[in-house]
Amino acid sequence: MPESNRWMVPFLDLSRQYALIKGEMDEALLRVGARGSYIMGSELEDFQQRFAAYCGCARAAGVASGTDAIALALKALNIGPGDEVITTPLTAVPTVMAIIQAGATPVFADIEEGGYGLDPAEAAKAAGPRTRALLPVHIFGECVEMDTLLDLAGRLGIALVEDACQAHGASWQGHPAGSLGAMGCFSFYPTKNLGAVGDAGMVTTGDESLYYRVCSLRDYGRSSRDTFSEPGWNSRLDEIQAAVLGVKLSHLDQWTARRKEIAGVYNQAFSGTDLFLPIERPGRGHVYHLYVVSCDYRDDLASMLSSRGVQTHVHYPAPVHLQPALMHLGYARGDFPRAEAASARVLSLPLNPWMTDAETELVANATRESL
Ligand SMILES: *Cc1c(COP(=O)(O)O)cnc(C)c1O
Repeated sequence: MPESNRWMVPFLDLSRQYALIKGEMDEALLRVGARGSYIMGSELEDFQQRFAAYCGCARAAGVASGTDAIALALKALNIGPGDEVITTPLTAVPTVMAIIQAGATPVFADIEEGGYGLDPAEAAKAAGPRTRALLPVHIFGECVEMDTLLDLAGRLGIALVEDACQAHGASWQGHPAGSLGAMGCFSFYPTKNLGAVGDAGMVTTGDESLYYRVCSLRDYGRSSRDTFSEPGWNSRLDEIQAAVLGVKLSHLDQWTARRKEIAGVYNQAFSGTDLFLPIERPGRGHVYHLYVVSCDYRDDLASMLSSRGVQTHVHYPAPVHLQPALMHLGYARGDFPRAEAASARVLSLPLNPWMTDAETELVANATRESL
């Protein structure tokens, strides 16, 4: 029995997504299988162009994962050993691992008051002579305060790279995530709003030379068929993933609309309670990768929901600066009080386009009854 069957409402059941688009999915998988070209072929070309257009960018380079997208973007910007990259402690760990993979040093700045994104004022305080990039994360599917962060990057004369791994189709003042900074980094990990049937990622940019640099770095540093102009590695997005992603991209706007609809039902159901809600703020096209509520009694709420058959998760139970792998950076509990408080208070309720209305009601009611 699949794990998800233990729940009245599983957090996410991707087999439902497959069932919905099975015809198109199978056609794409069989097409690639029969063609006999599996790496760097026409599926990648097509998907790169379509995803670039979707993000309002001139170019998009497919890579092997979201982690690689960030590491390759930083390397393409010549960021490496001795350089510092400012990011948020309230993110998926790979944001930070990618900085380390590029050879640079992560520097954390706390999140904003009343939200979960990197605080521009805190980022400004964290900047120093070695700072070479800002790496804000459009966390949970909502764009960070881009105007102030872009101003800051401009004043410091450094690049802003977007971690848009949770923000496919999100926007800031009408402009799509991935088109807002020098480069945008996407993950197509299966559970993301646009997900592959394995690992995959993408770097978006409006800058031709950065695009070609990423294309070279993802292919062992290749500059032409038999010439390698710098050391790179292997981080290619294969044809099967590109074909599947192309199928799903055609459905993404509809799926995002359904996410917003469910978020609307939750927001209404929980208004007037003491839950802090992810209400969409003006100018930010939230795509609700996750529906995150916050309260003082998070663990009790999670266990009451669990006993009512509702599966929840916590994103994230520990801020990244407290992870054992990063102890060498010298951070300690108390350094980022807002991110630390958020980690203790946040709870992600099930929200995905393949939930039924009945399941949505069940989650809403179970949550209200638990309060
Ligand atoms: C998923 C994710 C990543 C990493 O993507 P992978 O494809 O798993 O390497 C990076 N940053 C954020 C914010 C993510 O959610």
